[in-house]
Amino acid sequence: MESMIRAEHISKTFQDKNGQVNAVKDISFSIEKGDIYGIIGLSGAGKSTLVRCLNLLERPETGNIYIEGKNLMELSPGELRKERRDIGMIFQHFNLLMQRNVADNVCFPLEIAGVRKKDARKRALALLERVGLGEKAKAYPAQLSGGQKQRVAIARVLASQPKILLCDEATSALDPQTTRSILSLLKEINREYGITIVVITHEMAVVREICSHVAVLDHGCLVEEGAIDEVFEAPKTEAAKQLIFNAFQINSK
Ligand code: ADP
Repeated sequence: MESMIRAEHISKTFQDKNGQVNAVKDISFSIEKGDIYGIIGLSGAGKSTLVRCLNLLERPETGNIYIEGKNLMELSPGELRKERRDIGMIFQHFNLLMQRNVADNVCFPLEIAGVRKKDARKRALALLERVGLGEKAKAYPAQLSGGQKQRVAIARVLASQPKILLCDEATSALDPQTTRSILSLLKEINREYGITIVVITHEMAVVREICSHVAVLDHGCLVEEGAIDEVFEAPKTEAAKQLIFNAFQINSK
């Protein structure tokens, strides 16, 4: 069976004032349907760049990205736009439209996709119920807590019925209790809708809590990868050992 996501020899470089930065170096890996896949590494390791390559928000210079066997690198701009509808994304700072109320935020991608206003609204309200925010449909983002804002962002992304959800530090701006509630919600979404989830985080507890698999990045290279229990119980590389052991030392203080 085709993997949900297959990255083959992905490399991405940037130019900055000090010269060339090799943000992602020849990375290959696969994510299977229904996985919750964590990507960990120190700040600057290339996590964000790698994940942004998966939907070609960043276009890698080399390599191919296959979504259920279809190579995104070979698609026309129109075909790529269509494929991208299957790949949702949520962010650390939620990226809500501050001038629109909660329901209108959730309706927004549906309007762009040409869904009738009445149908969009109905779907938005059902999703807001699902994420526990049925009563906040008319509130504005500024009136919500961080956790509630992330729930709106999750409802909004679900509105497009994605196959894949990319989460870039989605809980990093939240307190531990709110983090737990958002993680439970992501887990439920993964189970109920069968959505494959990719999680970038610097919080090891988050990875251990929800991920089925994990990849470790170090200076742009994928240095270790596997089932969560294998990697967390017996990390092989220095980079993985440092991330995992340091995190649990800090947590046990
Ligand atoms: P992480 O998500 O692991 O913190 P990033 O993918 O954000 O890492 O960054 C990897 C490297 O690429 C860093 O050295 C960063 O400074 C560099 N980088 C990322 N985006 C850009 C950009 N748009 N322009 C120049 N350098 C960038």
